[in-house]
Amino acid sequence: MPLVPMRQILAEAEKGNYGVGAFNVNNMEQLQAIVNAAAGQKAPVILQVSRGALEYSEKEYLVAMIRVAAQKNPEIPIAMHLDHGSSLELVKEVIDLGFTSVMIDGSLEEDGKTPRSFESNVRLTREVVQYAHPRGVTVEGELGTLGGIEEDIAASEVILTDPRQAGRFVAETGVDALALAIGTSHGAYKFKKQPVLRMDIIREVKKLLPETFLVMHGSSSVPRELVDEVNAYGGKVPGAMGVPIPMIQEAIGLGIRKINIDTDGRLAFTGAIRRYMVENPAVFDQRKYLAAGREAIKSWVERKMQDFGTAGHAGDYTPASLEDMKTLYTR
Ligand SMILES: [Zn+2]
Repeated sequence: MPLVPMRQILAEAEKGNYGVGAFNVNNMEQLQAIVNAAAGQKAPVILQVSRGALEYSEKEYLVAMIRVAAQKNPEIPIAMHLDHGSSLELVKEVIDLGFTSVMIDGSLEEDGKTPRSFESNVRLTREVVQYAHPRGVTVEGELGTLGGIEEDIAASEVILTDPRQAGRFVAETGVDALALAIGTSHGAYKFKKQPVLRMDIIREVKKLLPETFLVMHGSSSVPRELVDEVNAYGGKVPGAMGVPIPMIQEAIGLGIRKINIDTDGRLAFTGAIRRYMVENPAVFDQRKYLAAGREAIKSWVERKMQDFGTAGHAGDYTPASLEDMKTLYTR
């Protein structure tokens, strides 16, 4: 099956009132882990590629592998999504590469630090929508800024999403999906204590924008056991903390459909490899320790698919093509 537009995956999640994990991918083992987990759980899945991942993989390598993953798993709806796109040029480039969905992060200037004005965010996002929709490609925008560190994105200030502004933003840009700043944060060191998420913002925005798919970034749970494994085998990740699963489930109940997760995958992979290396000091076949990392990511992704209610939904619908979406957008 060719890759499907993200819009359809989110629309089906809306109907079924469940959430879909958007997992970052950088290499073959991570990709296999996520897609094999999805196949086993019969779960639709969003594979997201950041600017850093494009650079690391020299673009075409990763894109080609994602296409192969989709071909090998025709029964699983898979979207290929750009995470935190920073410019119209980049969006055009990845759409040419075959991405079925893009995020344009107009909340920050291209330096990834300075907050952009509302007007400037609207202008950039609208340009992206005007380019993407005639090609059938889904667009996610962001309003408000998330704190924390995600590769080169390091907003110093956290500005929570203002629901009324969100209403204007969607009306003026035409985005399909909107990332809300509700108090989550990127990275492993999100919080010093139990986080408080502004569920009221989700509720308000959902009321004002029933047709828009809502997205939560920075939603790794940073489970104790993953952190402990990294630290037990020589790592140094002290005091990492994330968003507890029940909070994410509450957010899904209020209308969050896409849940972005990167950190947990990094921790699972690193912990398993560290452990393998310590327990098997004589092994220098990289397939051995990378396979251990791959297995760790897979079982952790399977759990998320169950926690978010995604499991079992892959067969609910006939996957749409970008062509089908073109028709939808021009109606
Ligand atoms: Zn993000």
